[in-house]
Amino acid sequence: MIAHLGVLLVAAAAVGAQVNPELCRYPLGMTGGQIQDEDISASSQWSESTAAKFGRLDSDNGDGDGAWCPDMLSEADSFKDYLQVDLRSLHFITLVGTQGRHADGMGNEFAQRYVIQYSRDGNDWLEWHDRKGRQVIEGNRNAYDVVLKDLEPPIIARFVRFMPVTDHSMIVCMRVELYGCEWLDGLMSYSIPDGHQMIYRGQDVYFNDSVYDGALAERLTKGLGQLTDGTWGQDDFLHTQTYSMWPGYDFVGWNNKSFPKGYVEVIFDFDHVRNFTSMKVHCNNMFSRGVRIFRQVTCYFRSGTEWEADPVTYRPNPDRVSQNARFVPVSLGDRTASAIKCRFHFGDLWMLFSEVAFQSGSAVYNTSLAPRKHGHPGTTIPGEDPTHKVDDSNTRILIGCLVAIIAILLTIIVIILWRQVWQKMLEKASRRLLDDELTARLAFQTQAFSYRHSSLSTEDGSSSNSTYERIFPLCGDYQEPSRLIRKLPEFAQSTERLVPASTTSGSDGAPHYAEADIVSLQETQDVNKSAINMDLFAGTDSSMKEFPRHKLTFKEKLGEGQFGEVHLCEAEGMQEFLGKDLSIEGNDESPLLVAVKTLREDANKNARNDFLKEIRIMSRLKDPNIVRLLAVCVDTDPLWMITEYMENGDLNQFLCNLRLKEVACEESTRKEEKDGGSYNKLIGMAVQIASGMKYLSSLNFVHRDLATRNCLVGKEYTIKIADFGMSRNLYRGDYYRIQGRAVLPIRWMSWESILLGKFTMASDVWAFGVTLWEILTLCKEQPYSQLSDEQVIENTGEFFRDQGKQIYLPKPPCCPERLYTNLMLSCWRRNAKQRPSFLEIHTQLMESLA
Ligand code: AMP
Repeated sequence: MIAHLGVLLVAAAAVGAQVNPELCRYPLGMTGGQIQDEDISASSQWSESTAAKFGRLDSDNGDGDGAWCPDMLSEADSFKDYLQVDLRSLHFITLVGTQGRHADGMGNEFAQRYVIQYSRDGNDWLEWHDRKGRQVIEGNRNAYDVVLKDLEPPIIARFVRFMPVTDHSMIVCMRVELYGCEWLDGLMSYSIPDGHQMIYRGQDVYFNDSVYDGALAERLTKGLGQLTDGTWGQDDFLHTQTYSMWPGYDFVGWNNKSFPKGYVEVIFDFDHVRNFTSMKVHCNNMFSRGVRIFRQVTCYFRSGTEWEADPVTYRPNPDRVSQNARFVPVSLGDRTASAIKCRFHFGDLWMLFSEVAFQSGSAVYNTSLAPRKHGHPGTTIPGEDPTHKVDDSNTRILIGCLVAIIAILLTIIVIILWRQVWQKMLEKASRRLLDDELTARLAFQTQAFSYRHSSLSTEDGSSSNSTYERIFPLCGDYQEPSRLIRKLPEFAQSTERLVPASTTSGSDGAPHYAEADIVSLQETQDVNKSAINMDLFAGTDSSMKEFPRHKLTFKEKLGEGQFGEVHLCEAEGMQEFLGKDLSIEGNDESPLLVAVKTLREDANKNARNDFLKEIRIMSRLKDPNIVRLLAVCVDTDPLWMITEYMENGDLNQFLCNLRLKEVACEESTRKEEKDGGSYNKLIGMAVQIASGMKYLSSLNFVHRDLATRNCLVGKEYTIKIADFGMSRNLYRGDYYRIQGRAVLPIRWMSWESILLGKFTMASDVWAFGVTLWEILTLCKEQPYSQLSDEQVIENTGEFFRDQGKQIYLPKPPCCPERLYTNLMLSCWRRNAKQRPSFLEIHTQLMESLA
């Protein structure tokens, strides 16, 4: 009687003594901030602003760039980069959530697939696999949606690593959350004999511990597995909780015949010394098939090195009536230990366990004893509350429906309001910009544009090009992009105030990239030179070597860019310096001619930082159509980057000169139509640019400033993309945010880049369309040369409104109709998703060459 009472009391005390994965789904603190910054680390980071601490699910910008982004380009293998979370104590983790880098629409990097590693002690790392042994988890499909993944089996760990799986060249970013609860059992590992195989009526039934994460041998050691996975087996051991697993899957079991001493010894190791109240063992009792709960258990305790002599023994009542599987509670008499060794004596031919749980001290799980529901493990749909899955009553469904309806209504209202705000903004801008007369002129231009554009160009410069000349002198005088120092009408005055004060001028007096303008838009980062150097040059990138300055002889000035002058130099011993693998193919000259880009000596810290970032980016780009960085001189000031020399300068100048020296495009095409001469050469150039862009897009790399001025021409019409001055700010959302102060190449920019500040591969495609247009017009006029900057912005508004009033660049005379409609116009589609990819563009251009 007393014994029975004792069992009941133990049973009552043991309620809540085992974890319930259905309820153990609380966010562990990445989003909520309970996990401290110092507990989030990573193998690498792309930049300070994409450090590990920014990898918190649902946190967008903060001080950073909206996510953790590893320096993937530096790693040769996948599976190397990780974001690590230290939970400070053992946790039972049932669910993980991931998100990419959205950063208010500025980011587009995410991990499509990832793997998880975990550790209980910080030393031994284990790889998570699902119940079918698959390691890779399907991650995100876009930069903003949260994708939740049920961990089946759950993980018991203190440290968790998220490791994006990608072609090592892809840039990925992650924000993550872990869901679960504290692992109050404190069990670090159990050691058991390997499970046996039963043959039941000709059917194989396996009782092995299939998710054990420790060492596998005759005896399983140093791991946890099915006995702690929160899934307990059914009455009929042939039926499994987990769909499509083999019979017996839920149980670990042993056959009496293999144990001459009549018992199975299980050793449990805990995180620290605990005061144990009880143990519960979930056992099968299908005695009609020779399976029974254990007859007796004897447990020994150890706090130090030796097992204590006085064990606790318990004999449960044999149940000869019910064949139900059940938890058998065992009182452990408040014994103190860090390890427990229990000998379970067979009650029949077989003994099958599916779960073991411990209660120590006052630790009680905040869960009910609700059994785990059956079903597939899988990806949870975003929007479900991941922390509660058990209560699926009608009320909950009803509440869910109501919430969904309210959410849909709110979304619709927000969209309507958003559209109205935009409409108003655009109307305001257009009212201010365009009086009736201007509107009439625009309307006239819309119709006349395609016919008149060529005749309105250089010859007639004075009137129709007055705006154009103010900003872009044609051809010979035509300078670089940044000369597109433009401002939104709303901010005209503030820009006026900023530009002249900080703009530097080249020898010809034309405005250059205004360094101070650019950097003033960036957050000031206190980065000193040595820190940058360490960050940039630490170990990984062997191609970025310091070249001895005294071996460079300056020959002539090639041009001037945003950072400073570019010089042609002879580099003595460069080929040997580069070594066999890196030397420039087909060029054995010594000394080698190279281009040396300098950072002007009075450059401020930000410009210096950006110069080094451009080095960093260029050093990782290796493609026949991307200008190659050969070496650097950054040990002392002034900073120099040494790139391959492109004999024919920039493509814009090159094409302008072609036009001057040779014949007009129309004539040349007519003349050479038969052999496809100059037209094919032009398309050949576009093919090379598309090929370079295809490479960049394979890296998820947005250039942001593609134009002929930023392409260089080498021997025999070789074209290479250069100038990564804009793309270096991939993670600097503010750089381009339209606040009137930005330096924007608006004539090359997509409508969404101008209006929404959104730069993606698709906006690079838009710019490619404009670049192709430049090539086929031989750069003889600036895009939209008849429109002032304000009108270009107004036209952007028309692209947004999409009411058929937008003005497209007209078909260049030497451009075939098919190329114009099928390719060029498709680059300027309003819907970015409908624009072709660089792969498609490249293929299409190649076909048009043939
Ligand atoms: P950037 O600073 O890259 O805008 O360069 C300014 C100008 O220098 C370009 O417009 C080119 O005319 C010239 N330039 C830059 N890099 C090279 C190079 N690798 N080879 C030849 N000319 C170059």
